[in-house]
Amino acid sequence: MPVSPSGGVSSRLRPMGASGHAANDHASAHAHAHTPAHEHCPGLLLLICGPSGVGKTTIVHELIRRFGGLFSVSATTRQRSPQERDGIDYFFVDERTFQEWITEDRFLEHAQVFGRAWYGTPEAPVRAELAKGHLVVLDIDVQGADNVRKRIPEALAIFVLPPNEQELLKRLRARGREDEAAIERRFAESKLEIARAMQGHTFDAFVVNDTLPRATDEVSAIVAARLAKRG
Ligand code: ADP
Ligand code: 5GP
Repeated sequence: MPVSPSGGVSSRLRPMGASGHAANDHASAHAHAHTPAHEHCPGLLLLICGPSGVGKTTIVHELIRRFGGLFSVSATTRQRSPQERDGIDYFFVDERTFQEWITEDRFLEHAQVFGRAWYGTPEAPVRAELAKGHLVVLDIDVQGADNVRKRIPEALAIFVLPPNEQELLKRLRARGREDEAAIERRFAESKLEIARAMQGHTFDAFVVNDTLPRATDEVSAIVAARLAKRG
């Protein structure tokens, strides 16, 4: 069943290749001000970040197949592309609705990415799955990951890198989601997002998505090691 950002939970995945994510410069991200510094959560929260087109959705699809759990569906004010489905890839909402949800404290974190559109992680479904001890995966930008880790320090954060720039460009085109100008813009933003990730201390691991089976195995091993450590 589709998710209601106010509380429902979806076990449906975003379809492969449907949600590429670009870099985020000049983004403003926000976490709740009243949040305690440390919040206990029995499940595992996995933050998967990386440039648009690097293969995050594809890897996460396989991770959820292996480990079960929830791929969190974000809300966004950006335009839906023809391949994307409301409630599955994103909750596509207007600016006013998004601002209302901020006021109603519905987001675990939210950010304006590249000054273009707002993105936010609905908190209730994430909390519900974590409380059940499940894996929850967020595909968010670097600032969003910084803010989530401030609230949930035990979250595992992995940044996915392309093997090289030309391959990233090729994969952006392979998604067939945008026109060439948008692809070029995302490609440029990707470089900034990678630099930001490398400079910070947010990430537990950097994984190169060279071949899909190898990268998926590496991410799975990191997740399995963390789950084993937690007992
Ligand atoms: P993201 O979610 O990071 O934007 P996607 O998962 O949508 O990226 O992948 C972008 C494109 O790259 C898709 O066409 C996908 O099939 C392809 N892809 C993903 N990983 C690999 C890989 N290791 N080698 C070749 N193509 C890949
Ligand atoms: P896209 O428009 O390509 O789907 O996503 C653009 C960027 O927004 C990507 O870096 C993606 O990871 C990020 N993003 C998607 N959902 C969220 C969210 O809920 N919060 C934050 N902070 N970033 C998000």
